[in-house]
Amino acid sequence: MKLSRSLASCSFVLSALCVTGSFAAQGAAPHWEYRGQHGTTHWAEIDPAYESCAHGRAQSPIDIRNAQAAQLPTLEFAYGRVTPSIVNNGHTIQVNIPRGQFLRIGDHSYELVQFHFHTPSEEHVQGKPSAMVAHFVHRDAEGKLAVVAALIQPGKAATGFETVLSHLPQHAGETLTVDGLELDLAGLLPAERRYWEFEGSLTTPPCSEGVRWMVLTQPVKVSAEAIRSMRRLYPANARPVQPLNGRVVRISQ
Ligand SMILES: [Zn+2]
Repeated sequence: MKLSRSLASCSFVLSALCVTGSFAAQGAAPHWEYRGQHGTTHWAEIDPAYESCAHGRAQSPIDIRNAQAAQLPTLEFAYGRVTPSIVNNGHTIQVNIPRGQFLRIGDHSYELVQFHFHTPSEEHVQGKPSAMVAHFVHRDAEGKLAVVAALIQPGKAATGFETVLSHLPQHAGETLTVDGLELDLAGLLPAERRYWEFEGSLTTPPCSEGVRWMVLTQPVKVSAEAIRSMRRLYPANARPVQPLNGRVVRISQ
């Protein structure tokens, strides 16, 4: 396999922020981090556009508990094999997906844009995070976002996640494409498609709300070594859990 590397002129171009298009006219987004002066509790002070991070009422991530059983639509993943590009955007490792991969929920269709990782998982279940999470970010024709979260725990595995995690671009702004690397997207997901559902937001600035969240209840296993390789680059890129403010979490039956 041949590796090719490139440095993006704007490390944010391919991040979740740009999925919303919020900074299209603004150039580079203001600097934020997970800790310290520009850390999670200061995001709203960094830029007026980040106001939702402090004052939003439906913020993500959340601690999932007391879910109500409900008849929720089946998640239909029309995912195939793709050759992705792997980006180190300074906040996470993000895997950009070529067009044509879809998630259908009832009669609504969303296209997969990218997936990325957080260590530990941002979502808590009964107060506890998982070792890692992959967020699959989808967008519909109107630009609305739907994120599917696959919780990741250490275990015996040989999924596409290991392939990605063995090709991590080491520097912020670096993009890696691997000739001959084909990723079986459906193979990244757990076999069971039961999920928790709730309304939420982006978990990074600008923390925009109106995001449809679905967290798969069955975790996927990834080798401890692969998890460590992500943790070496980003040891703690998880926003703390946010108040529910009366939101209801539902679980499919
Ligand atoms: Zn995320």
